Amino acid sequence: METGTDMKLKETLKRVFGYDTFRGTQEQIIQHVMDGKNTFVIMPTGAGKSLCYQLPAITKEGTAIVISPLIALMKNQVDQMNAVGINARFLNSTLSKSEMTRVKKETLSGEVKLLYVAPESLTKESNVEFLKKSRISFVAVDEAHCISEWGHDFRPEYRRIKAIIKDLGDVPIVALTATATPKVQLDIMKNLEMENASVFQSSFNRTNLMYEVKPKKQAKKQLIKLVKEHKGESGIIYCLSRKKVEEIAEFLKVNGVNVAPYHAGMDSAVRMRNQDAFLNEDVDVVVATIAFGMGIDKPDVRYVVHYDAPKSIEGYYQETGRAGRDGIMSKVVMFYSYNDILKLEKFNKDKSVTERENAKYLLEEMALYAESAVCRRKQLLHYFGEEWHKENCEACDNCLHPRERFDGEELVTKVIEAVRQTEERFNLNHISNVLVGKKTEHVLSYSHDKLKIFGAGKDHDEHFWKSIIRQTLLNEFIAKDIENPGVFKLAQKGIDFLIDPFKVELVKDHEYETEGEEEE
Ligand code: ADP
Ligand code: ZN
Repeated sequence: METGTDMKLKETLKRVFGYDTFRGTQEQIIQHVMDGKNTFVIMPTGAGKSLCYQLPAITKEGTAIVISPLIALMKNQVDQMNAVGINARFLNSTLSKSEMTRVKKETLSGEVKLLYVAPESLTKESNVEFLKKSRISFVAVDEAHCISEWGHDFRPEYRRIKAIIKDLGDVPIVALTATATPKVQLDIMKNLEMENASVFQSSFNRTNLMYEVKPKKQAKKQLIKLVKEHKGESGIIYCLSRKKVEEIAEFLKVNGVNVAPYHAGMDSAVRMRNQDAFLNEDVDVVVATIAFGMGIDKPDVRYVVHYDAPKSIEGYYQETGRAGRDGIMSKVVMFYSYNDILKLEKFNKDKSVTERENAKYLLEEMALYAESAVCRRKQLLHYFGEEWHKENCEACDNCLHPRERFDGEELVTKVIEAVRQTEERFNLNHISNVLVGKKTEHVLSYSHDKLKIFGAGKDHDEHFWKSIIRQTLLNEFIAKDIENPGVFKLAQKGIDFLIDPFKVELVKDHEYETEGEEEE
């Protein structure tokens, strides 16, 4: 039976947003927020997170604070809400003094239902004082992964949010993100002190995306072929540098493609014009740096190309996620060369030690993904803490063109043994060094050269072992240690396997030559 609040929520959904039904778990989430419980929402981009705080904010008494890292996104949402007659405002550094006064007045009188605040503004003394006097219904922390140093978008100000919320009288929190690996997830909950929150995680599987990685050889030729196959359809091509964006856009243009460039170094008016041209389908293809795409909701992007390797799986997932929002089959292609990874690594040399280590770890995951012959979908979902048990996804290069399989029982046993004998405290590099029998300083300092497993895999090189270790992970014989990024521990399946082994099939990695790559 529907209760009064259920009816009211449905009515508001229709009246304000124009939707007849909730999507996925939206209704349960909204119910939780209505009840004043801490709530953690993990949903892929485009799944409909905004509604999860907008609707309760409108329905509840008082003002909901929405913390959002991007002023452009804030403005977008405020405009949207105002257009349907909801009083939403933002508080950030772009406001004039009189605008600021007005926003504060309207909030204190309780007229404002949604107050969007940049984290920098939230931590300002004068704003805290004013918020203390207001009636706050709850705080929504959007893009909550910005809290975690282990994510790809760390924002130090995000770490101060909880203290402020406490100052406001410990109002309920809704944290939302589209990119949470188990480690990042734990970080968010710890930092916001919401370990007791109900977690709503929906699947990250994008069934209508066809994943493909191609060696970066004669990439321009491959690119033009792909673009021509999609003539008249919308596509995004991501490049690493502004210079490369210009170069590829020019190259496509002289080949008769209707294309526009986009990067942060361009004049902002031109940039906006190019973005609009893409949205209005005056151009088919945008060649862009990752500055392009945040908050862009074009449903019929039929393909996304990574001309250069992305910096992290999170970034890759988010960028490829812009294809096929309408649910129609779309293609995502990455051109891969290990040289790109090395290039990206150089960018990190000025960062702090922690940041550099993390960036390196994220890059390594990216390289392993590209080189692996295991189902792309399985790998991506595993990265986000989801298991995928289907043999063949039928929509990735590795499933459509499977590599030869080989018996991996003995190899897997060695990996599990190596993790066990090193006491579940080491990472990919260390485990592979132990297996091939490499006496590194680190190996010697732990006397791991004295272990029985030391050198037990000397018939193969480290590269080979890294692939095997990764497949042992993907097959759930070992697991990632959430508390210690990069470290492997034993999984129950692995412990059982040592006692009672069975047949395991593994696949050989792709071999990508770096020779013959196009020159810059
Ligand atoms: P996210 O923040 O998760 O990336 P958004 O909140 O921007 O996603 O929503 C993505 C799209 O889905 C928007 O165009 C939004 O209007 C639409 N949407 C959200 N909820 C519903 C619903 N219940 N029914 C229909 N469309 C919805
Ligand atoms: Zn697959």
